Amino acid sequence: MTIKEIHESYIKGEISISEVVDRVFENIKNRENEINAYISLYEDEARERAVDLEKNLNPEKPYLYGIPIAVKDNISTKDMDTTCGSRILLGYRPPYNATVVNRLLENGAIIIGKTNMDEFAMGSSGEHSYFGPTRNPHNIDYVPGGSSSGSAAAVAADEAVAALGSDTGGSIRQPASFCGVVGLKPTYGRVSRYGLVAFGSSLDQIGPITKSIFDAAVIFSTISGIDPKDSTSADAPVPDINEIFQGYEDQKYKVGIPDEYFTEGLHPEVKDGVLQVAKKFEKAGYEIERISLPHTEYAISVYYIIATSEASSNLARYDGVRYGFRARDFRTLDEMYKKTRTEGFGDEVKRRILLGTFALSAGYYDAYYLNAQKARRLIRQDFDRAFKKVDLILTPVSPTPPFKIGEKITDPVSLYLSDVFTVTASLAGLPAISIPCCKTSSGLPIGFQLMARPFDEKSLFRAGRLFEEHLKDG
Ligand code: GLN
Repeated sequence: MTIKEIHESYIKGEISISEVVDRVFENIKNRENEINAYISLYEDEARERAVDLEKNLNPEKPYLYGIPIAVKDNISTKDMDTTCGSRILLGYRPPYNATVVNRLLENGAIIIGKTNMDEFAMGSSGEHSYFGPTRNPHNIDYVPGGSSSGSAAAVAADEAVAALGSDTGGSIRQPASFCGVVGLKPTYGRVSRYGLVAFGSSLDQIGPITKSIFDAAVIFSTISGIDPKDSTSADAPVPDINEIFQGYEDQKYKVGIPDEYFTEGLHPEVKDGVLQVAKKFEKAGYEIERISLPHTEYAISVYYIIATSEASSNLARYDGVRYGFRARDFRTLDEMYKKTRTEGFGDEVKRRILLGTFALSAGYYDAYYLNAQKARRLIRQDFDRAFKKVDLILTPVSPTPPFKIGEKITDPVSLYLSDVFTVTASLAGLPAISIPCCKTSSGLPIGFQLMARPFDEKSLFRAGRLFEEHLKDG
């Protein structure tokens, strides 16, 4: 059931909050052994909160009131584990909540658990977790995507009604696409990053993973808005849920299809699926136009220089003193740092720290980091130009459908390349959404991506809902 459906059932008195919590934990019991969507669960706390919330239930309550929600394990939760899928944070419990968590709680949400993820949000398959891989609920031999693997899998397997993920270069959108659910990366600055464990600070954004566009909009409008605790959060007005969808069926957008996103490497079933979406929008009266984003070819290189550079700096704080895990058997302080980081970080995280440290080192800084920043600007300018002509840009989310567990883990570069369609919106700071459109011949989900102008999430929701409710099955 969606947030909207559960909310309406609460108001009508058809189901109680405790019953919904029971159902979710029932599903968790049935499927969690094979899916591995969660790192930690808080069943007793959730049941207690449900009983408390029931006492004050009334029709005025917000949509999230009494809704069981899963939170990615790199988002700080007071008195709940926050491991980032890493050994180095074993046992760490933040003394405070991320701003997004407080906003969910203030609106009556129930946090049921913390979801599995690629370590420190580095990865696209959910396989780089200290806690073992997450599996795709549609077929457990396949990856659910990553890095928000557990959040997407939990929603798809009905182990949560909705979830929060984080997206640095696609980590909400790509797993949403692989699991057949909706995932939104808001505009950079839209949602407070206070309490989100930093990976690439100039790219990271928290966003919803849900079963419907409406639900995504509910969470978006709840968690967005300026936060004095995050100086990069933007003071832009946040549309409320009614405003977002008012008259959405009658609005006709102009949609651009960029040539650079439909090249040879694109899997034929993904290509067909996304082009079908364009046709359906056109039939519904949208104007479809071919466009060009010429600097797309640099996006992967630029992203992997900037993200790793920022990561190498952000991850310096894990030293065995301040948080979580500390290695045993050391003689000197230096040895303690070294052993802790050697044993605490997994291979992918180490690879990124090495790459980033290299890119930032004196002598290479100009050649790599500075050039990457210049190319990042060009990528942003491509979008600025395109959005003078069109309102939305339609693309695939990932060049392939979900792949098999183990298929790419030994080849990091092939995994990096699979981020080609999602890193661009991250580099440009744009809002982008992943929406399920169809399935492969073997029944695995395929999603499409819509991008919009900065702070225009509203158009993503309006076009998305039109597709979901009126075009998808037409
Ligand atoms: N897959 C990309 C990476 O590995 C994106 C990760 C993310 O968005 N957190 O960096």
